[in-house]
Amino acid sequence: MISGSLIGYIIVGLFLEVIVSCVCTVAFLFRLKYWVMKSLAYYSLGLTPVVLSRIPAETDWMAPYELDRASSFAARSDRDDYIAAHWLVREVASHVVGSVPERLMIGQVCSDCGGNHGKPFLRGHPHIHLSLSHTIGVVAAAVGEVAIAIDVESNVAERLDDSVLETVMTSSELSILRQVDIDPTSDALKEGGARRLWCAKECLIKLGLLTLDTMCVADLSRLLTPSHKHICRRYLGESMNVSFFDISDTSIDVHGIFACELDMTKCEFMPIAHGVSSIVRL
Ligand SMILES: [Zn+2]
Repeated sequence: MISGSLIGYIIVGLFLEVIVSCVCTVAFLFRLKYWVMKSLAYYSLGLTPVVLSRIPAETDWMAPYELDRASSFAARSDRDDYIAAHWLVREVASHVVGSVPERLMIGQVCSDCGGNHGKPFLRGHPHIHLSLSHTIGVVAAAVGEVAIAIDVESNVAERLDDSVLETVMTSSELSILRQVDIDPTSDALKEGGARRLWCAKECLIKLGLLTLDTMCVADLSRLLTPSHKHICRRYLGESMNVSFFDISDTSIDVHGIFACELDMTKCEFMPIAHGVSSIVRL
């Protein structure tokens, strides 16, 4: 004879098993969604010393032009920022092409003078887009199978003075920046807003949609909304739609923009290794 309490335990056990199975299935399907949906772009932002500490010792990973450029900096901090940015872009690219960062070869060829500067590219992977940026003590890199650009500006960098702002901002951007200037407590917002706009316009230059002389043409005033943090804004460029993602990080005193030809309002951002975020189209 099986006692009533034993039957009760069996029923409760079966019930719990069904619950656990359901939870596991939902969790599996959730992960499966990301395995099936291919990430189209990746970006990362990091402190220079942290990124430098990840570089394996005694590896020969820089191209001759990168070594020359690195050794040309008078200040060690500028050299460190340059090296960290060029390592970080390899780390991010390694997620896209499935190789170790130290094996990846980066090139830069200026379309005007043929010099080793200008838009970086990944040797052997012509369909991959690269972008990197360095500011005081902070570096950022982005890699994608779609057009991407990244730019960062440290809050401790020299202030953008009004005469510079007047040449690179539109009248509506300037009027919003001046409105916040009326409130003395919002000075940080004005400075931050100006830096974010600068980063966004730098991204458009990196995407080949603007030049230094036409920065004042693109109106990105929507990036100045008070709830700007982590909000995507779209800008209709001349030849492509570009959406912007605010990657500013107040904990490390940096403003930054990641720009991409994907509509990032329809994308999901997933953190993966080393502070690298993967961007998946939903
Ligand atoms: Zn050049």
